Amino acid sequence: MTGSVTLVGGGPGDPELLTLAGAAALRAAEVVLYDRLGPRAQLQELAPDALLIDVGKTPGHHAVPQDRINDMLVHHALQGRCVVRLKGGDAFVFGRGGEEAAACHRAGIEVRVVPGVSSAIAVPAAAGIPVTHRDVSRSFTVISGHVPLEEAQLSALVALGGTIVILMGVNGLHGILSGLRRHGMDDAMPLAVIERGFSPQQRTLVSTVGSASLQFAHERVQSPAVIVIGEVVRVAPAAAVLEDVREAGGR
Ligand code: SAH
Repeated sequence: MTGSVTLVGGGPGDPELLTLAGAAALRAAEVVLYDRLGPRAQLQELAPDALLIDVGKTPGHHAVPQDRINDMLVHHALQGRCVVRLKGGDAFVFGRGGEEAAACHRAGIEVRVVPGVSSAIAVPAAAGIPVTHRDVSRSFTVISGHVPLEEAQLSALVALGGTIVILMGVNGLHGILSGLRRHGMDDAMPLAVIERGFSPQQRTLVSTVGSASLQFAHERVQSPAVIVIGEVVRVAPAAAVLEDVREAGGR
C-alpha cells in the first residue's frame, strides 16, 4: 500500500496560526519533514506519533538539498507511510511546494495541499500594517529578495504604485532599494521591517526608502524578517516616527 504526502502550510510560527486542517494532518502523521520556520517548537505535541525529521535551511546553508528532500518524501510514502511536509507560512509562497508536489506526482504518490497563513500578509499585520488600504494601495506584490530583479521588473514595480512586500530580503535590501530609487521611487516612501513576527522577539522598525539600508545595518536587522514598502506603512502604530522625522525636517 502506497502512503500519501500532505503539504502543510504551518503559518508564521505561532501554533495558533496553524489551520485546523493542518493540525489534523500533523496529528495523523507518521513522518514529518519540517523546516526552520513555522511552528517547530510545538511539533512534538502537534504530531505525537510521528518521526520528526529536520530538513531546515538557514540562509546560505542548505541543510538538506531540495532533491534529497523530494527523495525522502517519496521514499517514506512508498513505504506506505502517512507523510507531512510542514512548511513555514504557505507551501506555495516561496516554499518550493510546487517542486515537491511534482516530485510526488512523478512517483505516483497522492499529494494533498493544506494552505497556510503566509508571512507575506500575516507578518505585516502583526505590526498593524494592512497590505492594501482603500485609496492608499490597491495592490500588493510579493517578491523574493534572494534573486536580483531585472531593470524592467524594478521599473514595473515602481510604476504599479502598490505595496511591495519582500521576503528573504534582509541581505539584498540595499540592492533592491537602489534599483527602486533608480526607477524613480521617492526617497521619502515609507518602509517597515518586521523581524521574527509572532514571536516574543518581534520587532518593527520604520524608515524610508532613502534611509533604510543604513538604519537597518545599524540596528542589525536579521532574518527572518518581512519588509514592506508603501504608504500603507503609515497605518502602523510604529510609523509615528515618520511624522517626527517630517516635522523635524520641516523646521
Ligand atoms: N512560505 C513562507 C515563506 C518562505 S520564505 C510563507 O508563506 O510565509 C522565508 C521568508 O519568509 C523569510 O526570509 C522571511 O522573509 C519570511 N518569514 C517567514 N516567517 C516569518 C516570521 N515569523 N517573521 C518574519 N518573517 C518571516
